[in-house]
Amino acid sequence: MKLYRGRFAPTPSGPLHAGSIVAALASYLDARAHGGLWSVRIEDIDAPRCVAGADAFILHQLDRLGLRSPEPVVWQSQRSAHYEAAWGQLQSSGWAYGCACSRQDIEQALTAAGVPRARHAMAVYPGTCRNGLHGKAARAWRVRVEGSRQWTDRRLGRQSQHLDSEVGDFIIRRADTIWAYQLAVVVDDAVQGITDVVRGEDLADNTPRQQFLQDLLGVPRPRYLHTPLVLAEDGQKLSKQTGAQAVDLTQGLTVLQAAARILELEVSTPDEGRSASGLQAGASGPEPKELDRWLELAAQAWARRWLQTPGTHPVSPTMWG
Ligand code: GLU
Repeated sequence: MKLYRGRFAPTPSGPLHAGSIVAALASYLDARAHGGLWSVRIEDIDAPRCVAGADAFILHQLDRLGLRSPEPVVWQSQRSAHYEAAWGQLQSSGWAYGCACSRQDIEQALTAAGVPRARHAMAVYPGTCRNGLHGKAARAWRVRVEGSRQWTDRRLGRQSQHLDSEVGDFIIRRADTIWAYQLAVVVDDAVQGITDVVRGEDLADNTPRQQFLQDLLGVPRPRYLHTPLVLAEDGQKLSKQTGAQAVDLTQGLTVLQAAARILELEVSTPDEGRSASGLQAGASGPEPKELDRWLELAAQAWARRWLQTPGTHPVSPTMWG
């Protein structure tokens, strides 16, 4: 049996919105329902995408929503040494290679090879630098992929992806020297001993790449549960670009209840004779005790829905009070 460790890993490119709150709540409830540990990791590795102060604001939002952890918050920007070590390991095992191709080079190679591609579809790297740079300088670093990966997502069920034909050799260190998300997330999940990844469904198709890296680095695979996305009115994924509204912290309970509806949780009536959905947020927000009580009931609802499979046990019975 493994100790349960989960995490919420927001990119500080803006405040949390209704979509990211779903992932935050789900990861929190899964950890709590398992009696495990939940932590927050700020994924600020992609500096150009980060907004100054967004990390502090996200932590404030989580706190106001009662989503708290005694675990220290981790910032990816402070963890380069870990990524560097993994990069070194992948180079010495021969799986990582330097790549001199610009985006234009890749487009040209694909066109020359007659590879049809839908507009905006991901370009599968044609393997130009796989067998050496032929005197050119490396811009980025890629990992050589092989075969496919299969996994069973706790919500989506059986999944599979042919890495060679659908993804191709992927970047682990970008031309601007920034560590790629795929490498950073795998290294951090491993170093932090994460047993369970609970995150939005938009990230599901990254899982086979991450499992491939886990296998190359010889680290354990976490279990995965990808949560439903909150869609904007036009059916598109909610994001800052499509005008996702920041969370109204004076209506914390309402925000959590909306996220619970997306997660199809039946949160039962609290025993104080008031219904959970009837708890009203006042102008200054609900009482912290009400939020805590609601979260406890939501964790029970989560357990009823998702905890059929044993295999983990509580780390610390005291974390959840
Ligand atoms: N930082 C990623 C995001 O905000 C999430 C990464 C993950 O959960 O694996 O979309």
